[in-house]
Parts: sequence; structure tokens; C-alpha cells
Amino acid sequence: MNPDWADKDFYKVLGVSKTSSQDEIKKTYRKLAKEYHPDANPDNAKAEAKFKEVSEAYDVIGTESSRKEYDEFREAVASGAFRGGGAGGGGQYQNANFNFEDIFGDMGGMFGGGGRNRARRGNDLETRVTISFADALQGVTTPIRITGDVVCSSCRGSRAEAGSKVSTCGTCRGSGQVARNVGGFGIPQACNACQGTGQKIEKPCRSCQATGIVRDTKTVQIKIPRGVKDGAAIRLSGRGAAGPNGGPAGDLIVRISVTNHPVFGRKEDNLTVTVPITFSEATFGAQISVPVVTGGNVTLKIPAGTTSGKIFRIKGRGVTNSKGKQGDLLVTVELAIPTKLSKQAKAALENFAKETLQDDPREELLARAASAPRINPDGE
Ligand SMILES: [Zn+2]
Ligand SMILES: [Zn+2]
Repeated sequence: MNPDWADKDFYKVLGVSKTSSQDEIKKTYRKLAKEYHPDANPDNAKAEAKFKEVSEAYDVIGTESSRKEYDEFREAVASGAFRGGGAGGGGQYQNANFNFEDIFGDMGGMFGGGGRNRARRGNDLETRVTISFADALQGVTTPIRITGDVVCSSCRGSRAEAGSKVSTCGTCRGSGQVARNVGGFGIPQACNACQGTGQKIEKPCRSCQATGIVRDTKTVQIKIPRGVKDGAAIRLSGRGAAGPNGGPAGDLIVRISVTNHPVFGRKEDNLTVTVPITFSEATFGAQISVPVVTGGNVTLKIPAGTTSGKIFRIKGRGVTNSKGKQGDLLVTVELAIPTKLSKQAKAALENFAKETLQDDPREELLARAASAPRINPDGE
């Protein structure tokens, strides 16, 4: 973070657009740097100034992360987030209440004291894994592949080529920042000599461009606890992306999808199953067999006069959650209507129908409907 960003348009300096790719910016910078390089323009103060300007601009928008930081800062200025900042020119930072941390405090600390290359926490990585219904109930350890920033193996995060010298930056004496006097205030800014790292690296690591981290795909084993629900997210602290410049790693967030079971459903820690019963069983009551998820059946007693859709609870036959608490099995009975009947069964049923001709199950319903207020579909 650099307080003079407010009045510096690095895009204009490089002659690129705000939407240019990192590659385009790099190419343009290289061309300009060649053109204005002091070696190519001896004793040319104008070229030297231009070279410095171009380098400064590239220093910021040449890398994606600081470019983003810069863009956000410029947007904040343009939106008037800073009192007195932006277009006014001269004297904008005279407000003593001006505090970058207040405004950017929620941006992961990147505007904190240490300059833009200071250690930062790595990003959280998110991934999705699909497991079977059985694994969700039992718990499972499963490998998942994730792509993200990991500590560079060539330099082990030190940012320097193996065996090369790393010493303390002489300009900032290792603090990573230097004070800059703006409008009478000493505002700390990242040390240009070391880009805020406080270290002087003689040979930057080529594998990671001296960032200490590289992008990689790795396979990690994750332990999913028993009883996990479909749609649940597990946060594995410190298993996410490596932090830049030796910062702590972010978290790994694993979102769980659970496949369906052919027989059982699930409601929180309870399992559900629908079991058909016959008309006679519903009428007379019966002992029926109900499947359980661990295999085999248990016997459920249904009373005489059980209606279709009634739910029975079998204690302790549900899901054991990660805390060891056991859910129940919820059994919904559903009246099965026979589609094929033997001659005798048909005769018996016809006889039953004749015997119950007087029993109209809709009688009460129709009477209640008749006495209910009427509704005119055409309105009042
Ligand atoms: Zn490296
Ligand atoms: Zn320094």
C-alpha cells in the first residue's frame, strides 16, 4: 500500500488499459524498460525519470495481487471513501483521521504495516466430494485432489535459490518499510529495495519467482466423520493454500454430497423407510417385518385400525452422529392395493363390499364441506 497511489495512474504510465492481461502489461513494460533503460540513454535525465516511472508502475500492476490491491485502492478513492482524497490534488492526506486500516481493515490485512510482500495467510481452498450413503453413516477416510498454492519445494519457501545468500535489506534495515513524508505526516510505505520483505535476496528462486509458493495439485487424505449429512461442509484448518512469504496456510473446506440409498432416506439423524401393509393388516393389526440399514429386519407391531401414512418410530435404528448420539428409524406404512386377486379372494372381497355397503367413509367429510362457508369463484 502506497499513499501516493491516489494520484498515480500506473495504467496510463505504461500505456495499457485497465482490462489488459498480465501478459500484455509485461510485454509493454519490457518494451518501455528497454527503450528508457539508463544503459541505452547515458546522461539522459528525462529517460532515467521515465524509466523509474515505468518500473514503479510495473512494480505494482505487474503482479496480479498488488494490481488488485491498487485497483481496489483507486476505486475506493474514486468512490470518495477517502475524505479529501483523489481528484483534489495537493494536500489530500492532511486529514489526521485518515487511516488506511480503517478503510481496508477487512481486506485480509494486506494493507497492514509490513508492505505488500509481508507474510499473509494463505487462501481457503474449497472442494466437493461425493460419498456413498453407507460411508456417510459409517465415516470414511477418502483421498481428494486439490489444486492450490503450496510451499515451493525448491527453496522451501525461503524465496532464494538453494545455497544463495540472504541478508538483511540495508535500505529499511529489515523492517520492510520506510517512512514517507506526505503533507507533514510520516506514512509508512513498503521498502522499494526489498519490496517490503526486509530481506535482500541475491539469487531469487526461479521455481517460484521468489514468492516462496507455487501452484500445485496434491492429493490429501481427509477423514469424514460418521453421521455426516448431505450438503455439510467440513473445515480442515491449515490444509488450504500456503501463505505467501511464509504466512500461515488457509483452510480447506470440503463440501459433502451423499448419494441416495435404494431403500432408506434420511431426516437429520433419523432414517426413514416406507413399508407397504395390506388392508387386512391395517384393519386387524399385525406384526410386520421392517428392514434396518445394518442388514436384516426387525419386527414392528402395528395396531388394529392403522391408517395409511401413519409413521412409527423404532428407537436407536437411525444414524449415529459424530457425537455418538443415535437417531431413530421412522417407518411410514402405506396401504398396498392388490392388482391381482385369486378367484376366491375376489369373491371374498365382493362379499365384503356387499356387507359394508352402508359404511360410507366420505359421509363425514361431505357433511363438513356442506356446512362450510361457500366461496363464489366470480368474487363478491
Ligand atoms: Zn522457490
Ligand atoms: Zn528493504
